[in-house]
Amino acid sequence: MRLDRFLSETTPLTRSLAKRALKNGEVTLNGEPIKQSATQIDTEQDEVKFNGETLSLVGLRYLIMHKPTGVECTARRGLYPRVIDLIDLPKAERLQPVGRLDVDTTGLLLLTDDGQWSHRVTSPRHRCAKVYIADLAEPMEGSDAEWAINQVAQGILLDDEETPTQPALLRFITPLQAELTLTEGRYHQVKRMFAALGNHVNALHRQSIGDVVLTDDLGPGEWRELTQEEIDSF
Ligand code: URA
Repeated sequence: MRLDRFLSETTPLTRSLAKRALKNGEVTLNGEPIKQSATQIDTEQDEVKFNGETLSLVGLRYLIMHKPTGVECTARRGLYPRVIDLIDLPKAERLQPVGRLDVDTTGLLLLTDDGQWSHRVTSPRHRCAKVYIADLAEPMEGSDAEWAINQVAQGILLDDEETPTQPALLRFITPLQAELTLTEGRYHQVKRMFAALGNHVNALHRQSIGDVVLTDDLGPGEWRELTQEEIDSF
């Protein structure tokens, strides 16, 4: 397909605006800037970006996965299988995890090729609530548990950081299992918060992000497309 036609079919641009965008250097083909409107592209194989956003004839995709332990949220191949290796869709590598879970963390992972939507979900400005269930090494109850709940509500200064964590909600399901609701996503945040409270997270599971909840019908390693209502909830 000609590049200018591809642009007009995958963006709101008309054919002539697509030509102008090409001339202005707003388009890349497989990572290289491209200006020639008549360039023929393979719509299945080539990667075309307009102002940094990948374009696709199949439309934008939004998935929810139950991430199992032992798989990585990275794009490059490494020590562990990648989450995108579990998705049997064409061009699965174009899907990006929305925020990351550690290799040993299980639970709700969103994936999309819509960069703007991903930003809405992860940006601390949008204060989207993420609920985690942590299995703890040391039981916390009574005044210990109350102290921890207060610390988390006030914000905790983590090692090597300059600002305390945003106020968050901690609830003990049992002395060895806690539910933590965060509105931000710092590096290894849940594990570091419990470490700062003198405990250790043995296992971590993400239960929900915003209104999207991981339900029992999605087993570890399984995924489904998000409903329109779930997509629009962010
Ligand atoms: N916090 C962590 O420590 N790990 C995760 O995977 C997610 C949040």
